Amino acid sequence: MDLTTKAIALKTTDYGESDKFILLYSLDYGKISVYAKGIRKAKAKLKFAGDTFCFGNYEIAQTGDRLVLKTCEQLESFYTLREDIVVYYSACAIAECLVNYTEEGQSEPQLFVETLRALEQLVLGTNPLTVVLRYLLGFVKFQGFALDFKHCAECGNVCKKMFLDFQKGGVVCDDHRTVESLPLSPGVVSACNLLTDMPFDKLKTVTFSGELLKDALGDISQYISHSFAPNKSLAELLHLA
Ligand SMILES: [Zn+2]
Repeated sequence: MDLTTKAIALKTTDYGESDKFILLYSLDYGKISVYAKGIRKAKAKLKFAGDTFCFGNYEIAQTGDRLVLKTCEQLESFYTLREDIVVYYSACAIAECLVNYTEEGQSEPQLFVETLRALEQLVLGTNPLTVVLRYLLGFVKFQGFALDFKHCAECGNVCKKMFLDFQKGGVVCDDHRTVESLPLSPGVVSACNLLTDMPFDKLKTVTFSGELLKDALGDISQYISHSFAPNKSLAELLHLA
């Protein structure tokens, strides 16, 4: 049986002398691993299909448990993501969320679209830290760990001082924090409030200081480490930016 789906290449693993396994994030099947025979040969026609961040229409043959790449029509190479190290690590942090925190074979069309929109904004030159922060806020929501920066997760009150609580899995007020809760700066709270649910093509209209974005990403990074697993690319991005 053959499958055809739009997909983004997230990660590749060399196999044998000239083959590769390509981990795709696909519109119709979520995360899938596809075997690409001979793709590392110098003259391989489908070489591009195994480049990280390649977005294309992938045609895949299913034989037993195995998915084998048949052909691919490239829709966007996203090649320019590699031209700036901060942009590159931003794209890697996004890909790492899908690689490490999503289930194989589970289609989440909205998350697929958000991923594509985020990569597009990175290519268009929108502040990469803003793009990653917006993506992560959406990502945690899709995975059932949404953060509400307006109300305390315990009492629902709107408070001046907010804290990120990893045990309770949300933002809480002064009355409901524990000793381990992370205090959020008013700037981080208002930036996250503004960015939550903001369409990606509007991100270029907002400006935050680099320090504020790094603080916000540092806080969300800790939340992600706690709710899923540490994101190494995000840590590297915060180190570089
Ligand atoms: Zn409260």
